[in-house]
Amino acid sequence: MSLARALLGRPRRDRADVLSFQSSQLRRLVSHAYRNVPYYRSLFDAHGIRPADIRTAADMQLLPVTSKRDMQVLPVDAVVARGTDPTKLIARRTTGSTGEPLTIRRSYLEELVLGAFRKRALQAYGWRRTDLQAEIEEVEARHPRDHQRLQRVLHAAGLHRRISLHALLPVEEIVRKLRKARPTVVTGYAAVLARVGEAMQGDDLPPLRPRFVATHSEVLTPLMRRQIIEGFGAPVFTLYDSYEMHLIAWECGETGQLHTCDDSVLVEIVRDGRPVGIGERGDVVATALHSLAMPFLRYAIGDIATRGADACSCGAPFATLQTVQGRMFDYFPLPGGRLLHPYEIIALLGDKHAWIRQYQLIQEQRDRIVLRVAPSAPPSAAQLEVVASAIRRLLGTEVRLIVDLVDDLPAEPSSKFRVCRSLVRSEYDGIDWSATGSASPR
Ligand SMILES: [Zn+2]
Repeated sequence: MSLARALLGRPRRDRADVLSFQSSQLRRLVSHAYRNVPYYRSLFDAHGIRPADIRTAADMQLLPVTSKRDMQVLPVDAVVARGTDPTKLIARRTTGSTGEPLTIRRSYLEELVLGAFRKRALQAYGWRRTDLQAEIEEVEARHPRDHQRLQRVLHAAGLHRRISLHALLPVEEIVRKLRKARPTVVTGYAAVLARVGEAMQGDDLPPLRPRFVATHSEVLTPLMRRQIIEGFGAPVFTLYDSYEMHLIAWECGETGQLHTCDDSVLVEIVRDGRPVGIGERGDVVATALHSLAMPFLRYAIGDIATRGADACSCGAPFATLQTVQGRMFDYFPLPGGRLLHPYEIIALLGDKHAWIRQYQLIQEQRDRIVLRVAPSAPPSAAQLEVVASAIRRLLGTEVRLIVDLVDDLPAEPSSKFRVCRSLVRSEYDGIDWSATGSASPR
C-alpha cells in the first residue's frame, strides 16, 4: 500500500486496512522525526523513548503532547527536517486562526497529497472532476514554491476548476460573483457562507443550487446550516481542518458524525493526558502522518471534540467524532448597523509585528473593543501605536479600542480558547457541546 494509492483515491477496504496503513505511516514518520528533527530527537531522548517503541497509535501515549507554544518559540532548524531547505517549502502562517502565530512549512508534494485527502471527502458529497468549485477564503498571495504546475495542467483540460473569492469582500459582491460564475460546488468559511446564504435568500432571484456546499475552518452552527441550505438551495456538509493538519475529519452524509481522516491524520481525544472514552469530550491531539518536512507528532490543535464510535455506522472504515468545538469567530455588530468581521482587524495585526506572541479580540459593547496582547517582548510606545492607530482607523470614531498588555492568555482547562468573541451577539451562544449524535452540531 502506498501514498500513490491514497492519491488515486481508491477506497480502503476495511478498518483493518486503514489501521495497518496508519501504523506503517506512523512508524516511518516517527523514525524520520527522531533521525532528522532536533526538537523530536531531544523530546524522545528526554523521555527515554526510542522510535522502535512506537509501533501503532496506542503507543503514542508514551510521547508527551506538544503545544503550539512549544513550537512557536523554536528556531526553524529545530522543527524542519535536516536536509530540507526551508526556503524551498511553502510557508503558511496561522496568524488569524489561533491568536498564536506559527509558521507551517510543507513541500509542494505534501500539499498535493493533503489536498487529495480533502478531495476524497468532497467526492463523498458528489464532487466531480469537471465541477467548477467556488472557494470563499482568505486569498493569500501565491507562494513562489507553490507553482501550481499540476493544477494548471488540470485547469487547461477543464478539470478541477476553481475560482477564489476573498472572504472579506462585501457580501453583496460575493453573491454577485457567485451568480455570475454559477459554480457547481461552493466551499468556504461557515460564518461567511451563512451570511451569503442569508443575502441570497433576500434577493428574490432563483437559488444558485450548487450540487452541495461544504464549510470548513469554522464551526457550523445549526442556524448557519439552515441559512446555507435555504439560501443556496443545496445540502451543506462540514469539514474539520486546521492549518497544521489540513483535513482532520469530514461530516458523514448518513449519520451526521464526522469521519476522522485516519489514513492522513492520527487523531486522539485526550483529557489530562489520557484518551477519553466514547461520548466523552477532550482536547484534540493530532499527528500529521504525511508531513515530513515539518513533522507534527501529538500536537495539541487547541480544539475540543467529543469522541465518537471507532467505526461509523454507515460502514465507512473510519473512526468518528460526535462534535467539534473548533474555530469560532464572531462578527462584531458596530454602531450604525455595520457588521465587522474580525479578520479585518487580524489582517492589520498581520505578521509584521514580531512582538505579538498571542492575542484575543473581545467586543465588550457595541462601541467598545478590547485587544488583549501577550507580547513576546515588551513593545515600545511607537510599536504599540502603529497597531492601535491602524485598528482605530478601521473602526472609526464611534468605537473605542482598548489595548491591554497581559502576561498570558490561557484557555480554561478543557475549554476552547476563543480568539475573537463578541459579548454583544454571538452565533455560538447557547450551543450544548456535550450533545451527542451531531457533528458540530446540527
Ligand atoms: Zn459515516
